[in-house]
Amino acid sequence: MLVECLPSEVRSVVNAERKKGAVIGVVPTMGALHAGHVSLIEAARRECDFVVTTIFVNPTQFAPNEDLQKYPRTLDRDLEMCRDARCDLVFTPEVSSMYLSDAETVVTVTELTQRLEGRTRPEHFQGVTTVVAKLFNVTVPDKAYFGQKDFQQQLVIRRMVQDLDWGIEIVTCPIVRESDGLAMSSRNRYLSDDDRQNALVLFRALNHATELASASADAETIESEITRMIQSVDSVELDYAVVVDAEKLTPVTESTSSIVALLAVKVGNTRLIDNQILCFQ
Ligand code: AMP
Repeated sequence: MLVECLPSEVRSVVNAERKKGAVIGVVPTMGALHAGHVSLIEAARRECDFVVTTIFVNPTQFAPNEDLQKYPRTLDRDLEMCRDARCDLVFTPEVSSMYLSDAETVVTVTELTQRLEGRTRPEHFQGVTTVVAKLFNVTVPDKAYFGQKDFQQQLVIRRMVQDLDWGIEIVTCPIVRESDGLAMSSRNRYLSDDDRQNALVLFRALNHATELASASADAETIESEITRMIQSVDSVELDYAVVVDAEKLTPVTESTSSIVALLAVKVGNTRLIDNQILCFQ
């Protein structure tokens, strides 16, 4: 497995592979890898000839009050996990090789980013789309792998790729959970034992949403039920609990073809998100 920190090196390695006819898959991450990330690398391994994982804690997607400084950095272990998952190349750039100090260009998805996560984290998605655009330009992949865990993010990336005629196939992989149902996240390590127990209300609420949907409850009823469930746990602060159109993240209408329940909360100082696609009878 190659480990490279310079964009120019990555570009030339990937170019050489492409010339040999390899299908290139990329898995963008911020490191502190867990089984959720590994599932993306494994999916890429199954579907591509040459798999690139990127590990970059991207400063531009953190607001000044967020956890950029204390975001977990576990590079040695991450590299072992990438090796075990049979990744071919890991790209671990420095901030200085990703961003010129006088950079002026950003990529913005204008509408989809205004909703849900975008309300609480207004700078976030522009940071994500700009860095993912740059990672796509360095790695020039055929396929890129993202987790359903960040549901809005994968929609925003799909929108960007479509709007900019990128021709990259975006693959969304299922949420990997701990055995008790908590969605895996690099931020789970911030949770105290009590926080961790309280955070399980997210999974309970999503399961309840699934039951209600299969009993033909409407979106509004499900929303108010899951809101009530989450608010009943004292130390969990609700940001949003919505049941919306899974393509546009707007209220469900008759033309909605797929519906998703999306949750965001704060447990202690840690912000957690989770979601589930709902199947209505
Ligand atoms: P991050 O390192 O948090 O930026 O995540 C990198 C990628 O891994 C994103 O596409 C996430 O959606 C995905 N991911 C994070 N957690 C999980 C999980 N529990 N299951 C599946 N994918 C995940």
